[in-house]
Amino acid sequence: MGQVRIVSGTHQERNLTFWEKTTFPIVLKGMAYTFKQMFRENVTVQYPEEKIVLGAEFRGRPVLVAEHGQERCVACGLCARACPPLAISMQAAETDDAKERYPSFFEIDMLRCIYCGLCEDVCPEEAIVMSEDYDNVYLNRKDAIYDKQRLMVDSERLKPRLEFLRRMRNPNFGVIYQFDKENNIHSVRDRGNTSAAAH
Ligand code: SF4
Ligand code: SF4
Repeated sequence: MGQVRIVSGTHQERNLTFWEKTTFPIVLKGMAYTFKQMFRENVTVQYPEEKIVLGAEFRGRPVLVAEHGQERCVACGLCARACPPLAISMQAAETDDAKERYPSFFEIDMLRCIYCGLCEDVCPEEAIVMSEDYDNVYLNRKDAIYDKQRLMVDSERLKPRLEFLRRMRNPNFGVIYQFDKENNIHSVRDRGNTSAAAH
């Protein structure tokens, strides 16, 4: 049997001084830090009395973009198809307007919505976007279901988000592949404006 050698301590251990052993220095350091914070600018927001203004990049409650009181939506159904928790329900109908189709019924169940933004990503018309509205509190399940009228927000009010989306758009779209201008009219808003469709 070999001899067992007991080594006390390692090189990582540090001998504490007398004052450190009393813990007073570290307690005083903590108190000094707390005292210093009392004179710093207050960053706490007194929600819900106080609201904060969020930037265009914030993804809040999804809304339908409206122009002259009409939704931009052409009822293609892509958003409902892409929505992971199946929060969107809609029904398409025909119209004599240029867009040919509109949603006769459009609903988002905000109890299901996970604010993923996929509906906004897939929409070919920029007709559904994530708004700055984060203040979503419901007293019952019915209030959490937004119908078309409650979902519609005028495009002027959504301008910062719409401009943000355009800034973030892939700049290579239509550059790598040589699109035929006439065939590249993917949006009702671009019809009659083929130069816009090429970009
Ligand atoms: S944000 Fe996501 S979860 Fe909410 S409605 Fe759009 S796709 Fe559905
Ligand atoms: S993807 Fe856009 S245009 Fe299509 S149904 Fe949804 S909101 Fe309407």
